[in-house]
Amino acid sequence: MKKPLLVANWKMNPTKLAKAKEIAKFYDNENVVICPPFVFLNEVKETIKKASLGAQNCFWEKSSHKKGAFTGEISGEMLADIGCRFVILGHSERREIFKEDYLSIKRKIKITLSLGMTPILCIGEKGGEEKKQIETIKKQITDSLEKSLVKKIIIAYEPVFAIGTGKPCDSYLAEKRKLLIKKILEEIVKGGDKTPILYGGSVNSKNAALYIKEAGFDGLLVGGASLDKKEFKQIIESLKEL
Ligand code: PEP
Repeated sequence: MKKPLLVANWKMNPTKLAKAKEIAKFYDNENVVICPPFVFLNEVKETIKKASLGAQNCFWEKSSHKKGAFTGEISGEMLADIGCRFVILGHSERREIFKEDYLSIKRKIKITLSLGMTPILCIGEKGGEEKKQIETIKKQITDSLEKSLVKKIIIAYEPVFAIGTGKPCDSYLAEKRKLLIKKILEEIVKGGDKTPILYGGSVNSKNAALYIKEAGFDGLLVGGASLDKKEFKQIIESLKEL
């Protein structure tokens, strides 16, 4: 089995550069992707040797378009130049708080790919009635992807009710959702079911292996626990023997 990919989403943390460098150094591992806030990307890049660098977002237009007249945004060209290999897109916090829709997420996926980086597309339902949850997942996938994109990306299944709540999704339900996602991807394009799928949502050192071993995910997207040096190191250790 291919080694599980561990993506560390630091969100808007830590507040100090020195701390960012300290954490990055501590879990520099070839199966880890570190996604710090934009302002720390360069320094984290200088600190890591084995881990890969990822961004938490990317604007959907190039700096060269309208000569970069998009105040406050960060372009894919900048991220690629700094050494990012991955870009998290469509995180539920961006969809909820910043009202990102799947059409702009699709544009971001295209820009990211065109610059040689791999998009990690986050999808996930809020909970509630089963039929509605399935429809939500289907809509998120079909609105943000088209045939030519499916096999080039990584999907992160992140049920909203599990993100940052300390209430992880049951591994049985997560596996069921993973199979649903595979089916939808295969319907879009033959072989789409081989697209790697990560699980995210209150992952910790006690449950990490379950999602890989029992639910068959290809890796994990870890938020809160990726800022805790001891906890994240234990997550890495718990996946070593798999
Ligand atoms: C996330 O931010 O993508 C996430 C899964 O957060 P947490 O691990 O804290 O639930």
